[in-house]
Order: sequence, then C-alpha cells, then structure tokens
Amino acid sequence: MNWQQRIDRALEARRAAQALRGRTALQPLPGGRIGYQGKIWLNAASNDYLGLSHHPAVIRAWQQGACEYGVGSAGSGHVTGYSPAHQGLEAALAEWLGYPRALLFISGFGANQAVIGALMAKEDRILADRLSHASLLEAASLSPATLRRFAHNDSGALGALLAKPLSGQQLVVTEGVFSMDGDSAPLADIARESQRGDALLMVDDAHGIGATGAQGRGSCQLAGVRPDLQVVTFGKAFGVSGAAVLCSESMADYLLQFARHLIYSTAMPPAQAMALGAALQVIRSDEGAALRGRLEGHIRTFREQVAGLPLTLGSSATAIQPLIIGDNQQALALSQRLREQGLWVTAIRPPTVPVGTARLRITLTAAHSDDDITTLVAGLAHACQ
Ligand SMILES: *Cc1c(COP(=O)(O)O)cnc(C)c1O
Repeated sequence: MNWQQRIDRALEARRAAQALRGRTALQPLPGGRIGYQGKIWLNAASNDYLGLSHHPAVIRAWQQGACEYGVGSAGSGHVTGYSPAHQGLEAALAEWLGYPRALLFISGFGANQAVIGALMAKEDRILADRLSHASLLEAASLSPATLRRFAHNDSGALGALLAKPLSGQQLVVTEGVFSMDGDSAPLADIARESQRGDALLMVDDAHGIGATGAQGRGSCQLAGVRPDLQVVTFGKAFGVSGAAVLCSESMADYLLQFARHLIYSTAMPPAQAMALGAALQVIRSDEGAALRGRLEGHIRTFREQVAGLPLTLGSSATAIQPLIIGDNQQALALSQRLREQGLWVTAIRPPTVPVGTARLRITLTAAHSDDDITTLVAGLAHACQ
C-alpha cells in the first residue's frame, strides 16, 4: 500500500463509520453565543464554564500585557522566554492551590505528555482510569512503562492492580471531572489506595479547576486531597488557554531539567500569563463564587427539566451534561435538529468515547441566562419527538 492509498483508506473507513470529524469556523461571542453564517446561536458546547473568555478584566490584562511585553515570549523559558509575568502567575497558582511550586505549560495536552514522559522508566507501571483523556492515555502508552487501565472510578480495582509485584515505581493517573461524562472521580479513595501502594498520584483537573470547590480550587479541594501532581488547564473555566503542573520543590526542579515540552518549546506569551492572572483573580473572588453559583443553578434546572424527556442523562453533577444516544448516525441527526432551532450542540462519537456510546455533550455555562436553559430543554424536547 503506498502513502496515498493508506491515507485514502483511513479516511474512507472513518467516513463509513460516520465518524469523520470536521471543523467549522465560528465567531465566539459573549453571553454563551456563537456567530455562524450571519446568525447567532446558543452555544451549549463550549468549555468556557464561567464565561471568562469575554470578561472585560481578562481582556484588559491581555491588552496591557501585550503593550508592556510585546505579543510573544520570544523563547523557551530556559532561554529568554520566562518573564516576571510568568513568575508571578506561577507563584499565585502555587499559593492558591497550596503547593510549593507551579510550572506553566502551553497546553494541558503538552503538560501531560511532558510529565509522564519525564517520569516513567521501563520497569515502572502506570495505572490510569479507563476513561482518562487522550492526552494522558497517549502519554502513558508512548512511555516505556507498562500501562494498565483500571475500571472507571473503581478504587478497588485500582488497589488490586497496585498490589501486584513490580520492580519499578507506580504512577496513578485520573481526572477530577471526566471530560466526556462529567462525572467526578472518588479522589479520596483513589488517594488512599495510591498512598497504600506507595504510588505517585497525578490528577488532571482540567474540567474541575475554577468551576468548582471553594475559591474555585477544583475537585481536589472538594475531595480534601492533595495529589503529588496536579494538572490544571486554562482553556476551560479560565477562558484562556495553557496549563500548569502543581508539585513539590524537587519535582519542579526535576521537570525543569527533564520535561522536554518545557525546554524545547516557546513559552506562553507574557500577555497571556497576565490574562491568566486576571482570570485567577476573578475565579477566587466573590464574583467567581457568584458565577459558580449561577452555573450550579443552571445544572440543577437542566437536570430537573430533562428528567421528563425520553433521553438518557448521565449521572453528572457538573457543567458537562452528556445525553447518551448510542448510535453515531442518530447522535448526528439529533444535533442537526438542534441546529435547526439555533442550538449549537456537538455529537461526540468514537474513538473519543467508547463504541456504542455516541452522545450529545451538552455544556452549561454561567454566561447562559435562565431563559437559555429553558430554551435548550424545549429544543431537546422538540428534537427527540
Ligand atoms: C482539555 C483537556 C486536556 C487538554 O488541555 P489543553 O490545554 O486543551 O491542551 C487535558 N486533560 C483533560 C482532562 C482535558 O479535558
């Protein structure tokens, strides 16, 4: 098979499985809206859980940062790309989450690759929740260590795997809130098993940080745990992009030496670090608490209203409210009927989710109004008639 045949065949297989993915150029708008083809749509598919992507203070901080520092960082942090803006943000994040150190990364995907890549050796074992994000599972399978996936949110299954003899070290990997199901990990149980098994615990709280917990400190604060490594990302509730790894002094020093994504990649723009600092201030403030309260209200209303519809709602208590449809074609058709009503909801299909669990991944945000939630549920009722 030559290159062209290989590419054509792979695309054809995706098409045949109704699993071809596409992109649409959309105009992000405030108020939980997007613009497309001259119309305004209710956006129930974004991860901007608090609506901070359009927050005036965050925008202003980015603008001021650009004036002060220019638009790019002009180098890896190890060369000339590390500024007082980066330093200040790392210190603020570490203090907020109660860790000695925080290290900034340009993406959560990269942070997960970097940490797992820098830590694991051949004789080691990674124990990851089956439903962990692609960035974690891919990093784990690319690493020289053995990857074992444990049953979703099953700390007993994790404990059994941890007890198996091994010459090397063990790393336990899970998420605070699962990205496609919206359910939360039993972090206290998982932390206990990890400790008993003398394993390092890494929690990726991409969807919990900012959106939940006191001062928005996320799933770990809610569960009362402090994992050895906590990954937080800024493309969701922070409304910006980027990520940070929270850890001990020695772990941070180690990652600065061995995490290749930090060493061989341009640091995030200082202006972005300024915007993230402003987003963090909002998240920690009374305004942040009010936004989280509003989001919780929307989640409650949505779940109450959808309970009366012939739809399968997951057990999520978070902003991610998946409606499990099963069949790819049916999920696509349903999202199409929602589009016809001005509602932007994406159908998520395998391999992002297990085969036979295609779903509408509905996300609610604090930027939505009470009426938006009612409109969304009415749209769903109409679409599944
Ligand atoms: C979105 C996400 C990531 C990737 O973060 P980016 O900053 O978008 O690269 C990593 N882990 C989880 C659980 C995510 O949901």
